[in-house]
Amino acid sequence: MASDYDVIIIGAGAAGLMCAATAGYRGRRVLVLDHANKPGKKILMSGGGRCNFTNLNSTPANFLSENPHFCISALKRYTPQHFLELVERHGIEHEEKAAGQLFCRDSAKDILNLLLTECEWAGAEIRMKTQARNIVATSDGYQLDTGSGTLSCESLVVACGGLSIPTMGATGFGYDIAKQFGLEVLPTRAGLVPFTLHPELKQQLAPLSGISCPVDVSCHNEHFREPMLVTHRGLSGPAMLQISSFWEPGDSLAVNLLPACQIREDLLSLRKAKPQSTVGQYLAQHLPKRFAQAFNDLNGWTGPLQGYKNTDIDQVASTLGQWSIKPAGTEGYRTAEVTLGGVDTRQLSSKTMAVLDQPNLYFIGEVVDVTGHLGGHNFQWAWASGVAAGNSA
Ligand SMILES: Cc1cc2nc3c(=O)[nH]c(=O)nc-3n(C[C@H](O)[C@H](O)[C@H](O)COP(=O)(O)OP(=O)(O)OC[C@H]3O[C@@H](n4cnc5c(N)ncnc54)[C@H](O)[C@@H]3O)c2cc1C
Repeated sequence: MASDYDVIIIGAGAAGLMCAATAGYRGRRVLVLDHANKPGKKILMSGGGRCNFTNLNSTPANFLSENPHFCISALKRYTPQHFLELVERHGIEHEEKAAGQLFCRDSAKDILNLLLTECEWAGAEIRMKTQARNIVATSDGYQLDTGSGTLSCESLVVACGGLSIPTMGATGFGYDIAKQFGLEVLPTRAGLVPFTLHPELKQQLAPLSGISCPVDVSCHNEHFREPMLVTHRGLSGPAMLQISSFWEPGDSLAVNLLPACQIREDLLSLRKAKPQSTVGQYLAQHLPKRFAQAFNDLNGWTGPLQGYKNTDIDQVASTLGQWSIKPAGTEGYRTAEVTLGGVDTRQLSSKTMAVLDQPNLYFIGEVVDVTGHLGGHNFQWAWASGVAAGNSA
């Protein structure tokens, strides 16, 4: 008996919609279903509402995975330039913020509209408020039990995303399907997520709340030079979000508050040239004034530099250059931008995203164990993996 659809895609997010348009243009009868009331909710909230839709400098080195070579093929075949061409074809105004990071000038809605328009042109159907429940493999494909009846298809694409932001519709359903079909699911944890602090440190840092400054943060030999933001809950900003993907409970972070300075040498020279100057004045030259003041007070650095012995200066330099912070934890999936871990890529084709021994079952996007750095890399993975599967499913 003929299937209802050639391809059914579970999840109307970035990866699912991209896959739907690609498969639709190949003449496949495509249905995308999603249990949420609207498609692409994460696209709408991304990039502070302006969607950092790709990164021109994206390379496989910007992705974390137990199998780091897996992402290379798809990323090579669908590049940031390809997505940028699509954005420009739709006349979407965009701008480069930090190096390579492309954002919509107006609104993330533009990217969602692009995807919905492409799906419409490609003849792909999108059905919202439809939850994929039970799935059964049949002799010629798959049968899905949805809240409103049973559907059949030749190819099934799982684009359910990860666990981050449950209020936006995130579920572990993609992992359940993977396990049902015998795939390994690697342990998951929240990534690109703010840190929480122990009460004592949180109280000490309270005067710094709301201030951002460029730092170099490191953990497990990974480091990022980006802004850090102290919040009333803990530590955030790009530097902290980036390093959170490498942090594990119990680890300390090393923060260099003055990455552009030779702190010890600067202070020794200053003591010689201007013995009456203070650490606070030195800090104020390099850090936002309120941060400099509060950090100086926090450490009790008083008096002119001429009163500082070399060992005191070493101590100041070490506190500023290697400020050791032990986070209490992270804010978890509630606010995480991504989920690390997921479907083990060693069981998938890197060319098509199909399961190696079940060629009509595909996994794409965030549900897979490929996680990008902050800065547009996660959407680039959604587009690239979506196109890879859409060209095969
Ligand atoms: C606040 C925030 C900001 C971000 N900003 C950026 C950014 O600027 N740049 C960037 O590159 N990345 C950003 N990201 C990450 C990016 O949004 C994700 O990597 C990307 O959306 C993953 O796409 P996906 O299609 O795999 O999954 P999702 O977008 O999560 O889509 C999965 C879909 O599956 C649906 N679903 C789940 N279970 C079921 C089920 N059982 N039945 C039916 N449907 C189901 C969900 O409702 C959802 O619509 C951000 C993430 C967040 C949370």
